[in-house]
Amino acid sequence: MNPYLDEDLVALGEHARRFAQGRVAPGFEARDSTRTLDRDLMLEMGQMGFIAPELPEAYGGQGLGCLAAGVIHEEIARADLSLSYINLLASLNGQILAHHAAPDIARPWLERLTQGRALLAIALTEPRGGSDAANLRLRMERVGDHYVLNGEKTSISAADQADAAVVFARTGTVESGARGVSAVLVPMDVPGITRNRFDCHGQRAIGRGSIFFENVRVPVDHLLGEEGQGFVQVMQGFDFSRALIGLQVLAVAKVSLEETWEYVAQREAFGKPLSAFQGVSHPLADYETQVEAARLLCLQTLWLKDRGLPHTAEAAMCKWWGPKLAYDVVHQCLLSFGHGGYDRGPMEQRLRDVLGFQIGDGTAQIMKTIIARTRAGRGAVPA
Ligand SMILES: Cc1cc2nc3c(=O)[nH]c(=O)nc-3n(C[C@H](O)[C@H](O)[C@H](O)COP(=O)(O)OP(=O)(O)OC[C@H]3O[C@@H](n4cnc5c(N)ncnc54)[C@H](O)[C@@H]3O)c2cc1C
Repeated sequence: MNPYLDEDLVALGEHARRFAQGRVAPGFEARDSTRTLDRDLMLEMGQMGFIAPELPEAYGGQGLGCLAAGVIHEEIARADLSLSYINLLASLNGQILAHHAAPDIARPWLERLTQGRALLAIALTEPRGGSDAANLRLRMERVGDHYVLNGEKTSISAADQADAAVVFARTGTVESGARGVSAVLVPMDVPGITRNRFDCHGQRAIGRGSIFFENVRVPVDHLLGEEGQGFVQVMQGFDFSRALIGLQVLAVAKVSLEETWEYVAQREAFGKPLSAFQGVSHPLADYETQVEAARLLCLQTLWLKDRGLPHTAEAAMCKWWGPKLAYDVVHQCLLSFGHGGYDRGPMEQRLRDVLGFQIGDGTAQIMKTIIARTRAGRGAVPA
């Protein structure tokens, strides 16, 4: 028990765990080797109400709050981190559309999103760099009642599988920095779009790749927020996804610890269970402690968000600490399994999967800069 999850949220988590164990976990390794997401499973998740339940009912959600999204994220990720991108992308993009899209554009997309009939990508990073995100160059110019986009986005999760993407583009001059960036919803079936897919280390079911825009025309009513304000307005949604990412990777750490405790309690060396050796059990005990604390921080961040309270620094803490801790935990668990841990299997796949989140959605250095900025002030911590 903890102060953030009431009986309803605990029951929701148990419900999601039963589904994840029965439907998601069995295909965990196969989806990694075939690099397929399984859209049928996505549809089932939608039917179960597991995709973006925090969205208002008018948009196909259940108005359940961000903590509800968090407990579902944990359970799907526990079974398959890569597949839980469905939840992550839906919650991040869902919030962006619900707050910043024209209602006539938002409604049909959000209904498809929550029903598991559409996957939306978030396209920010460009070949010239991701950390200095406001310095992006993909051009977007207004021509009559359309915007015309030219340029490239790269390292985009689900690039080749998404049905639409929230794209950040430059409508102002390069010198105008973040103030010259706009956000727009781009359906991926419009002429002028080509896509590819990388051969990734982990998170292979969702995959990553580039999206190329050549004279891509999008109606002006697909603009998200105000022109030139996209970076400032729309990027605020990332505080939400950073807390969710923390919960996702920590769920992977937690299931790895559970399996490792079971293993070290039954495997013997020198006439005793491995767990009798403090060199084996104390590192695991250390990580149990840290995972518990980090998870509480993530839940607290969502609790703050549900109450409309500031949570930018907390979200950045979740995002740098969670993935680093989860990687260290899974690494230790893998070593505890001896040579068997190094074989192709769940533990090595989890290690590959969680590593991606030390980079994706912003690195630890960038997260620590955000924390420093909220504490010392923007003027004292320039970019
Ligand atoms: C698994 C995965 C999924 C991703 N999904 C998406 C997605 O869906 N959409 C999307 O838009 N992008 C996505 N990305 C891209 C990701 O957001 C960028 O890779 C990330 O922001 C870092 O940008 P970069 O790779 O260009 O590194 P760079 O910006 O070139 O940075 C390289 C290194 O320098 C460090 N560095 C840079 N600037 C500073 C500084 N001021 N102080 C200290 N250190 C600094 C960085 O921390 C990093 O270690 C994904 C990446 C991965 C790995």
